Amino acid sequence: MFYSPPVIPQKWQSAYEAHIQAVEQKVVVVAAWILLITVIVYHFSHDIRNFQSSNLLVTEFAIRMPVILVALASLSTHYFGQPRWPGRRLLRLMALSLMAMILSLLLLHLKKGSTEFHQISNGLVISFFGVSILSVRGLREWPLLFLLPMVIFSGLAVALDIPTDDFTPLFFDPLVMTAIGMIVMTALRHILTSEFLARQELREVASTDPLTGLLTRRAMEPLMDHELQRAKRTGAPFSLVLGDLDLFKRVNDTWGHDTGDLVLQETARRLGSGLRHQDALCRWGGEELLILLPDTPAEGARAVAEKLRQAMIPTIDAHGQPITQTISLGVASFQPDDTVDAIVGRSDDALYLAKHNGRNRVEVATPTEPDRQPIQPKVPRLRPGQTDAP
Ligand code: GH3
Ligand code: MG
Ligand code: MG
Repeated sequence: MFYSPPVIPQKWQSAYEAHIQAVEQKVVVVAAWILLITVIVYHFSHDIRNFQSSNLLVTEFAIRMPVILVALASLSTHYFGQPRWPGRRLLRLMALSLMAMILSLLLLHLKKGSTEFHQISNGLVISFFGVSILSVRGLREWPLLFLLPMVIFSGLAVALDIPTDDFTPLFFDPLVMTAIGMIVMTALRHILTSEFLARQELREVASTDPLTGLLTRRAMEPLMDHELQRAKRTGAPFSLVLGDLDLFKRVNDTWGHDTGDLVLQETARRLGSGLRHQDALCRWGGEELLILLPDTPAEGARAVAEKLRQAMIPTIDAHGQPITQTISLGVASFQPDDTVDAIVGRSDDALYLAKHNGRNRVEVATPTEPDRQPIQPKVPRLRPGQTDAP
């Protein structure tokens, strides 16, 4: 094949669906305005172009009515939120009402024996092109939007004893325009898809720590904020666990930075495999990891933290060198009137306490007391974001 369309990886399918839905909603608004204006202009332009007798005006208006109603419903959905119809449904309704309108007008004039088909033939070209643009999802929409209306039209033409020679030549230009519309839409969709993929890749790079493959701090912050808002709205508890490798500087000093990196990677793997799908694990600072546990109160979070602590106990094999690396963890749970900074601060206090009490242990933050003094660690620790001792 001379051109292969961009392929969406499975992991981005739902984001892509949301992206296409957003595009469809935008197309709906533009298309609704265009339809409304053109259908009304065409309806009242008979005298100017003088092609049709005005005694058909009422019948023609009835035939145009469904398009006007769908356009109004689309604009109402966009501007007033009612009816709450998805863009895809509105696009289909628009395309089908447009096809029904133009093919019914054609049937009407064929049946009346009109000799002047100039306006109808223009209308067919414009409508067929418009419908090919409205099928944002491409070829899979075509059986519904083109084939079905054409089959019904042919059936009605036969039923009304209209000779096929009267109308088949009229479809030549519309079908050429349809092919052009199809090519334009396919190209546009490929551009949209490529842009979507490029944006997702950038987003993934920005939200993934290159060493450990964990989420970055920047990617974690909106997740915590989202969870905090949810907790405030629904009262669902959630907890944070802040972990910090014990005496990690010694690993670097004894075996070198590369071995330190390997230990960090293995830590990320072990902690990650002990978590649920909905939990989020990020590299918060140099050798600090932060875990967000949705729907988890303090006691549950303590149990998770304890499991994570134990996951670090077996020695790590660093190029044949067995390394013992423990972790200290501080747990804090959501309290009413919390902020993200406050809850992270409490998990940090609990972590200080774990270090203070001898490391390789879990401590749970007590609820906030305004006059509580933070506990000073025996060994100074890096602040999040720092990568080396001062
Ligand atoms: P504590 O038990 O009090 O936490 O002691 P510690 O030695 O772990 O604490 P400290 O803050 O003194 O040292 C953290 C070390 O982590 C120092 C820093 O060089 C190292 N580190 C931070 N980021 C990385 C990294 O990406 N790779 C490697 N190899 N080391 C890192
Ligand atoms: Mg440390
Ligand atoms: Mg540290």
